[in-house]
Amino acid sequence: MGAFDAPSLLTRLLASPFLTLLRPLYTFLLYLRTPPRTRLPSTRPVRVVCISDTHTLTLDDVADGDLLIHAGDMTNDGTLAEIQAQIDWIKTLPHAHKVVIAGNHDSWLDERIRPRIPSGPSPSSSSSSSSSSEDDYEHVTNPPTPSTLDWGEIHYLQNRTLALPFPPTPTHPTPRILTLHGVPQIPPLDPSPSTTLHAFQYPPDTNPYTTHPIPPSTDILITHSPPLHHCDLFPHSIGCAHLLAQVWRVRPSLLVFGHVHAAGGVVERGFYDCAQRSWEELCSRRCEKGEIWEKGERGVLGWVVRGGWWRDALDWRMWKGMVGVVFGAARAVVWTRVWGGETAGVGREGWIINAACKAESGLRGRGIVVEI
Ligand SMILES: [Zn+2]
Repeated sequence: MGAFDAPSLLTRLLASPFLTLLRPLYTFLLYLRTPPRTRLPSTRPVRVVCISDTHTLTLDDVADGDLLIHAGDMTNDGTLAEIQAQIDWIKTLPHAHKVVIAGNHDSWLDERIRPRIPSGPSPSSSSSSSSSSEDDYEHVTNPPTPSTLDWGEIHYLQNRTLALPFPPTPTHPTPRILTLHGVPQIPPLDPSPSTTLHAFQYPPDTNPYTTHPIPPSTDILITHSPPLHHCDLFPHSIGCAHLLAQVWRVRPSLLVFGHVHAAGGVVERGFYDCAQRSWEELCSRRCEKGEIWEKGERGVLGWVVRGGWWRDALDWRMWKGMVGVVFGAARAVVWTRVWGGETAGVGREGWIINAACKAESGLRGRGIVVEI
């Protein structure tokens, strides 16, 4: 079993029975709460359609909306031709605004990887392509050569911010402007960066957001990687810890990503409160980070003896965290639904969406639609 495969119920129970049993209760409590408030009632709503990880395939029917977002991995091999074919498909879609970022498979778009792509320009100097060190990491800021891909009216965001206007409607006479920011970087996948064709990996022990900060005014944050502990296959937990910290800082109305296909199609509510913090801390205590399948080779008895039952039951911090999750989320339900109290408010909470479309047999869905 690999880190990108959905862990079985047995795997999750053995990693942490407490968390496995707590998750449905926490999810239920989140859905009892009022949905994240992303705009004032007088503000024009914007219907966003989120897709990701199409991997050279196309959706027959994409949902209607004001804005289409593709969160990366348009291709498999990342060649210029593959990328252009996906761009040409996206161009045919009727949405007024279309925004795309790159994923690790869209290799031609990463200047560090481009010379290794068959259709890319032959490397002018081998030194510029021979490593993916922190020195080379700076090249991630450079945009692709604009004359070689025809993006049409698609906005391509590579560590870049964009403000998009949305015209008034009969019921909302004031136009709206949303700020979007796109980030392709993912946590390291590949132990051999000098030969990998996976793009936009940041070096280990590097915080990519030090080099490429996200503006605090971002309304819609588009990343290829999930943030740690959100739609990232607990107990594998392959999301980005640096991104999680940025999301807490920025608190976008909408966070869209892909990358982890097996968790695609999931919509979470992000309230950035003590319950969410407690949940993330619990997940951090029990994520396995590449060890879980090694344990599997030791047999079921080894798993039971080494399983999470004992660690969960004997760890007072697990009990404390569980009380924090349940009490915090239940208190928020009572506060907003029973007392009619205000939540953290517009700009302080939002939707968290894994929009990966790739499934075992082709693409699934019509895109995830959310109104913000
Ligand atoms: Zn993918």
